[in-house]
Amino acid sequence: DNGLSEADPEVRAIIDMEKQRQFKSLELIASENFTYRAVMEAVGSCLTNKYSEGLPGKRYYGGNEHIDELETLCQRRALDAFHLDGKKWGVNVQPLSGSPANFEVYTAILKPHDRLMGLDLSHGGHLSHGFMTPKRRVSGTSIYFESMSYRLNESTGLVDYDKLEEMADRFKPKLIIAGASAYPRDFDYPRMRKIADSVGAFLMMDMAHISGLVAASVLANPFDYCDIVTTTTHKSLRGPRGGMIFFKKDTVLGVDLETAINNAVFPGLQGGPHNHTIGGLAVCLKYAQSPEFKAYQNQVVSNCRALASRLTELGYKLVSGGSDNHLVLVDLRPLGIDGARVEKILDMASITLNKNSVPGDKSAVVPGGIRIGSPAMTTRGFTEKEFIAVADYIHEGVQITIDAKRAASGSKLQDFMKFVASPEFSLKDQVSD
Ligand code: PLP
Repeated sequence: DNGLSEADPEVRAIIDMEKQRQFKSLELIASENFTYRAVMEAVGSCLTNKYSEGLPGKRYYGGNEHIDELETLCQRRALDAFHLDGKKWGVNVQPLSGSPANFEVYTAILKPHDRLMGLDLSHGGHLSHGFMTPKRRVSGTSIYFESMSYRLNESTGLVDYDKLEEMADRFKPKLIIAGASAYPRDFDYPRMRKIADSVGAFLMMDMAHISGLVAASVLANPFDYCDIVTTTTHKSLRGPRGGMIFFKKDTVLGVDLETAINNAVFPGLQGGPHNHTIGGLAVCLKYAQSPEFKAYQNQVVSNCRALASRLTELGYKLVSGGSDNHLVLVDLRPLGIDGARVEKILDMASITLNKNSVPGDKSAVVPGGIRIGSPAMTTRGFTEKEFIAVADYIHEGVQITIDAKRAASGSKLQDFMKFVASPEFSLKDQVSD
């Protein structure tokens, strides 16, 4: 069999260019990281060749003796990495990624059109937590279940638990989801548990963004309060792309969680597990129990704090006023610019981050903020000192964006573009499609 350079130089060249891009840029996307070389080796191994529908010891194909050993090892490491007692908690390591893991939970514990509540997308939640707009049910979660989002208090930037309680009392959800994609603070699990109990709802935490921080006990432990905890494996945890579902080994609200969740993963929504990913995940979960991993996660948080305080010194408004975790959310609206423009300008300088909605935004396409994360560059060895420099570079990019916008606003080109977009422009109809 030929190697990639010989078999497909075109794909090889694209991979090489992407490698260069990753190497040369400042990677500040909060959901990304650089996984371990050993994880890549497992993910690129012969494990990808094997079909193993079912669970260890209960497969639908022969030849699974090694895969059984691997998946059992991965499950055990997952429970150990999150300090869980295997008699009380179980885990399914087969979900293909975070969104499927969440949908599998909903399928397991809800009936079609049952009600759920997650954090609003524009306030930091994830699509798979029930996203819909007034016009359209966007996520499958809102197509097959009835969703009502809770939100942040716009003046504090913190989850409005009082309002959540009030809404839950009226809406009577069967499931309340904690967790977010762009929330710089920790969740109040005891409060959410109380709210869930008051309406007879399950409580699930989607710790995708912060699972590395949870494993290292840098943030509060969701397992003390939730019935179910889901996660991706490729963000702060530093593993391969995948997902996991942790469940209480108990019957909750009449549902035997272990049976329901395992059945929802397979045969409910998936076929054969991706054994190469499970191999890579097992490796990552071994690392996650090391002292170096704990030191890394502490550094992720310290770096993020250094970034947040430098940005504050430079006069930026941060949603919630700072950060307890691995990300900051900058509200650019007081500067009269948007996140989309800043993302573009910084991209040109090889600083990679993403535009993000901030509470109170009118448009999701041109949102008023940017999200900045510390996990990836911490993996590459950055400390507080470098993150302070990162804040200064971002500041420079923002200044350039402001200057460019100001320069363009008085220019002939800007006037001409306004004319082209106006109804008076005679060619408009010809290009409207
Ligand atoms: N949950 C949260 C909180 C996320 O932030 C994400 C992705 O960013 C997901 C789930 C979905 O993960 P995936 O993209 O792997 O489906």
